[in-house]
Amino acid sequence: MPVPEARIPREVFEVCDVLRRAGHRAWIVGGCVRDLLRGLEVSDWDLCTSAKPEQTKACFKKVIPTGIAHGTVTVLWKGHAFEVTTLRGEGAYTDGRRPDEVFFVDDIREDLARRDFTVNAIAYDPVLRRVEDPFGGREDLDAGLLRAVGVPAERFAEDGLRILRGARFVATLEMELHPDTRDAFAGALDVYAKVSRERIREEWLKAFKARRPSRAFVVMRDTGILARTCPLLQALDAIAVGPGVTAFDRSLRAMDLAEGPVARLAALLHAVGLPRVDEGSRAYASVGADLLEAWLRDFRFSNDERRDVLHLVRHHALDLDVLRDDVAVRRFLQRVDPKHAPAVLALAKVVRLAAAEDPATIDELLERVRAAIARRPPLRVGDLAVNGQDVLATGTSGRAVGRLLDALLDHVIEHPEDNTRDVLLPRLNELASVLATEASA
Ligand code: ATP
Ligand code: MG
Repeated sequence: MPVPEARIPREVFEVCDVLRRAGHRAWIVGGCVRDLLRGLEVSDWDLCTSAKPEQTKACFKKVIPTGIAHGTVTVLWKGHAFEVTTLRGEGAYTDGRRPDEVFFVDDIREDLARRDFTVNAIAYDPVLRRVEDPFGGREDLDAGLLRAVGVPAERFAEDGLRILRGARFVATLEMELHPDTRDAFAGALDVYAKVSRERIREEWLKAFKARRPSRAFVVMRDTGILARTCPLLQALDAIAVGPGVTAFDRSLRAMDLAEGPVARLAALLHAVGLPRVDEGSRAYASVGADLLEAWLRDFRFSNDERRDVLHLVRHHALDLDVLRDDVAVRRFLQRVDPKHAPAVLALAKVVRLAAAEDPATIDELLERVRAAIARRPPLRVGDLAVNGQDVLATGTSGRAVGRLLDALLDHVIEHPEDNTRDVLLPRLNELASVLATEASA
C-alpha cells in the first residue's frame, strides 16, 4: 500500500524538510497517515520529530509552545499550523488516564509502540519517502481489522479511553475488532470508568460522524461499555418491540438514518422513556426527555445540545390523526416553535422508518406545517393585534393581564382571521368585564 505522496500538502513536506536540514528526522504520523492511506480527506497533519522541543523551536520563526511538557509545539508555517511532537516513550500509568511521566526517545518505533491501534501506529517520512509500520498497520487497514498495538489487555489497562476509541473506530473506519483485541475490552471496564465524561461526549460526537454510528454502539453494548455509560439506553436492549427486535435495535437504526450530531443523539436516545410507560403510550417521549436531562448535563453536553435534544425527544411522538387538522398544526407550532418543527418532524420520520412504518404521512405533515408557517399565523402573545396596553386600558391589572392575552391567543390560534384590532378589542372588553364581575362576586 504506497503512500499517496501527491496528497501531502507542500507545507507539510516543507516543515519536515526544515527539520531534516537541521539534522533531525520528521514524520507525519497517526490518524493523518491512516486516513491518507484510506484515501480520505485529512484535516489535521500531526508531525513527530527526533528534535527535542527546544530544537524544534529553534528551527522556525513562529512557534507556539502548546504542550512543551509533553513535547508538543505548534509550528506556524505559511498560514498553516502544525503540531510537532518530539518522539516519546511512555512511563507507567497508575491512574488509567495519563502516563505518570513522559520521556523523549530517539527511535520512531518506540514512539509508535505507545499508540493505541496498529492502524494509528504508522509514520511516514515525506523527505526520505520512508514508511515506518512496525506493527503491520497497513495490512490491518487492508484487512479491515482494528488491532491493539502490543498486548491488548495491557494497553487498555493503561488508558481507559482506548476501548471507547476502539468502539468509535469500528464505526468511523468501518473496521472489525480483531478477536484478541475485542476479548480484552471486558477486563478494561473498571479503567474505562475513570474516563472523564467530557472525553466520552467527544467520542460519541465523533462516532456520530460515521456513515453508520450504530456500529460503535453495538460494540459498546456487547462489551459492557454502554452499561457503564448510559444505563437508560442499555435498558432498551431488554424491551422487545417486535419479533427478535428490541427498542435498542430500533434506536440504532433511527440514529443511522438521522443527519447531524444533534439529530443522531436525539434519535439514539428517543425511546429511553419506553420502559416507564404503558405499552403504546406516547407519554414515553416526555418521560424520556425528563430522564435524559440529568444525563446530558452529567456528560457535559453543551446547553444548546441539551436543549435541542430534549426538545426533539419531547415532541417527536406525534399524533398523526390529530395533526390532520389545521388548528392542531398551529397548536403543534405553538409548542415546538416553527424554527424547530422541521427537526422534530425529521426525528418522527426516522423513528417511523426504523419501525418499518410508512413515512409518507410525515412528509405530508411536513408540507402542511410548511404551508402553515408560510401563512405566518399568530402563535404567541407578541403576535396578537392587541397588546398589554390595550388590556390595561380595560382596567385589568396584575396576573389577569397575562390570562386575558392567553385567552385571546387561544382564540386566534383557532381563528387566525380574527387577529385584527377590530375583532379583538371588543372581545377583550367583553372578557375583561367577565373577569371583573367574577372578581367582585
Ligand atoms: P481522529 O483524529 O480521526 O479522531 P486520530 O487517530 O487522529 O483519530 P487523535 O486523537 O487525533 O486520533 O490522536 C492522534 C494519534 O495519537 C492517534 O492516531 C494515535 O496514534 C495516538 N493516540 C491518540 N489517543 C491515544 C490514546 N488514548 N492512546 C494511545 N494512542 C493514542
Ligand atoms: Mg487526529
